[in-house]
Amino acid sequence: MHFIQALKLRSKLFFFFLFVTFGLIFIGIVGTSYINAMKRNVDALYFGSLIPVMELNEITHTYYAGVLSTIHKASRQEMSAQQAYYQIKKSLLKINKKWHSYTSHYKSEEEMEYVAYVAMELQVANELFLQIAATIQQKDSIESVMVQNVEQRVSSVDAVLKKLINYETDVAKYERKVFLSKYESIMKQIGGTLALVVMMVVSISLYVFRSIQEDHSKLEKVVKRLKVTNKKLENASYTDSLTGLYNRRYFNHIYERELGRAKRDKSYITFMILDIDFFKQYNDTYGHVEGDFALKSVAKVLKDTLKRPSDYVFRLGGEEFGVILSATNESDSATLARNICESVKQRELRHEKSKVSNVVTISIGVACCVADDVLDNEILITKADEMLYTAKESGRDRYCITTKVSKAKSVSA
Ligand code: GH3
Ligand code: MG
Ligand code: MG
Repeated sequence: MHFIQALKLRSKLFFFFLFVTFGLIFIGIVGTSYINAMKRNVDALYFGSLIPVMELNEITHTYYAGVLSTIHKASRQEMSAQQAYYQIKKSLLKINKKWHSYTSHYKSEEEMEYVAYVAMELQVANELFLQIAATIQQKDSIESVMVQNVEQRVSSVDAVLKKLINYETDVAKYERKVFLSKYESIMKQIGGTLALVVMMVVSISLYVFRSIQEDHSKLEKVVKRLKVTNKKLENASYTDSLTGLYNRRYFNHIYERELGRAKRDKSYITFMILDIDFFKQYNDTYGHVEGDFALKSVAKVLKDTLKRPSDYVFRLGGEEFGVILSATNESDSATLARNICESVKQRELRHEKSKVSNVVTISIGVACCVADDVLDNEILITKADEMLYTAKESGRDRYCITTKVSKAKSVSA
């Protein structure tokens, strides 16, 4: 029973452990896929829009700071024609590099058309700037018409680039919006999944713990019942079912224990053996049911007479009873034996076939002594038996008592 309960508990805990493990794995897989989706969106926003806008701004800046400003400086002779030539060439190289990097990012078809147009514009402008730079180098001077040409070209390139920057900025804004809405929906999905898993874990925990509690209270009930059954079995093992007195088996145990105690304390110990007189005839006359009733009556007399916690009364078998008394001297033991004989008689159970009385009587053999280390364990029983025999022989309905192993006296009840 306990084993089955333990098995149930183990399988419930195992089931709970499995569910939590799979729940965590599930959250892990779903969470990773959501995080990957977010990463892709951030990448698209960053490399698809923000970097291109920065690159276009850098191109515009280089036209102004590297090309136009160089022409101006050279025209004001703050810079040599040679230096201006190299500076413009360097700036144009930088612009080409940035433009190449810009066009390498993903573009939609619609965007590609305008990008191609801008590329053409830049190419024409760059060729013009190269020509002007070469002329400056050859002539070693700058004409004002060249400055004007560069100014016009830079501002027209600036205009087309601004348009492209605006376009890219719009795309970035749009992608940000898309990203935010995707982010919201992902967060909702993550929240929903988490809430679902948490709810399931909580409800399964509740179920598991409640059923564990139920198992536990069932187990407690079973243990309680077992204790009661054990107690009953224990009682049954040392009780005589007819009279409710202790049985022969328990007598062996108690006799040994009480004798041992008396030997240690060097105190009085008394053993009585009681036998109903002419009980065979009683049964033959009144039947076994009445016989059993007489046995119960005698048992009742014994229970009522011997009430001290140290008094033990046994049904040794058939119509034979045994009594063990501790710390009771010869005269008290004799008084008790006499009382028992009289009380049985006072019950007035009719016994027509008895040769000593017209009611049920008993005979008692009593052995009483102060125990010591050398006292033979069986001698009390033997002596009590002898006393019973003497009581029977000397007319029944009496007790015979001895305090010495070799000496006994017969007293009429
Ligand atoms: P005595 O005076 O010498 O003791 O004579 P007695 O007839 O009592 O002799 P004995 O001990 O031989 O007889 C015992 C009888 O007790 C025999 C049996 O019929 C009866 N008896 C033994 N056990 C039980 C029992 O459990 N119930 C009933 N009703 N009778 C029992
Ligand atoms: Mg007998
Ligand atoms: Mg008898």
